[in-house]
Amino acid sequence: MSFRIVTTNWFRLTLPLLIVTFAMVCQNQIVELTYSNREIITSLPYALFIFTILLAHAFKQSRIAMVSATMLLAYWVIQSRLQSPLSTGTTIFELSLLTLLMPISLLLVLSYRDASIFSKPFALYLFKLSVFFIWSWITLSYIHEDGLDDLNNTFLFVWPSVSQLPFILVIFSLAMVLIFSIFLMSRNNIIDAVLYTTALLSSVTYAFIHVTFISSTLFSLAGILLLLYLINASYELAFNDNLTDIPGRLALESDLRHLGKVFSIAMVDIDHFKSFNDSYGHETGDDVLKLVASKLQKVGKKARVYRYGGEEFTILFKGREAPDTLSELEELRAALEEYDMVIRNKDARPKNDKVGSKQRKAKAKSNTVNITISIGVADNLDFDTVAEVMKAADNALYKAKKTGRNKVCSA
Ligand code: GH3
Ligand code: MG
Ligand code: MG
Repeated sequence: MSFRIVTTNWFRLTLPLLIVTFAMVCQNQIVELTYSNREIITSLPYALFIFTILLAHAFKQSRIAMVSATMLLAYWVIQSRLQSPLSTGTTIFELSLLTLLMPISLLLVLSYRDASIFSKPFALYLFKLSVFFIWSWITLSYIHEDGLDDLNNTFLFVWPSVSQLPFILVIFSLAMVLIFSIFLMSRNNIIDAVLYTTALLSSVTYAFIHVTFISSTLFSLAGILLLLYLINASYELAFNDNLTDIPGRLALESDLRHLGKVFSIAMVDIDHFKSFNDSYGHETGDDVLKLVASKLQKVGKKARVYRYGGEEFTILFKGREAPDTLSELEELRAALEEYDMVIRNKDARPKNDKVGSKQRKAKAKSNTVNITISIGVADNLDFDTVAEVMKAADNALYKAKKTGRNKVCSA
């Protein structure tokens, strides 16, 4: 849990760039190393991608398996078709097709949800890949080797000092990598990191395909990164709460084992949530949970928020006594109370008095409702064990509930 920096979008954006730079700088050493272990290193990407697909199946991460399958196919095409000089035969045309179809295949992955690989979506994705493959193959069989010159000189204009690849495709690759990086920076899902990384490493490979052993080097590195992302994904699956996408109970229990000398625990509970569910339905209730989770996350940087379970959340303040946390907790409470939540189903009428009176307060904004929370907080100064501090925070929460709700109480 203390390596949280590795899951930030900036880290995920920078790491593949650093790896590419490193591979470029150490090019000579890599060539030497690869040359003496040629057999092993050129087959390493196959092993890594196949292993990733199997593991992705076990973790039900079919989208990472889709990316691995795409990389596997691309690497096979490079190894079996693109090992001759680009000026011979249809090599440049084949490379161009690969450069064009690879990012499109990666983009398609975003239209799927994760499942096991023995599922219809995964089969459908493989079908789309084979359509691309067969289409390329048919296109190639219609192109006569000597008929390529015209195409090369016009459409496939090459700027040799930049890349052997047609210039328009260099621009296309850059644009696609940029699109994937925008997804990564704005959403920072693991699949965004996976797509950005593979788009970047494969594009660099295609653009500099004339560099010795570049495909085995960059595709191996991509395979290693895919495995790391897969482990990251399975870890998030276990530690993050599915609904709110914030750390869940398991993450809390793990963090409670690494507390410093002083810490505070706040227990947060949504007021009259049962009535809210009864009035607006469980789905709207789920939206409220997501909203509360995201609002609670605005707590200061040194605190961490967890979904404890149901409509209860826990905030852990390391290195802080309870009185130091009160103003921040009060701000959270007020921020939620003041937030006008828009109800999706405008026809929904509160059947319940408690929620109803709150809604009537909003008067003109009749399709908005205000949620309130109660908070109890305790620190470890008067207690010996974490369990006792939790209990004290719970008692403080009970006090807040008993004395009118929508307030912060300390133990
Ligand atoms: P109080 O102010 O005393 O906390 O009242 P309350 O109604 O919030 O408390 P109570 O513990 O009686 O009810 C909690 C409700 O939270 C019951 C359940 O319907 C709802 N709930 C728990 N988990 C979920 C969830 O994942 N989604 C939704 N929509 N509701 C949930
Ligand atoms: Mg409760
Ligand atoms: Mg409640």
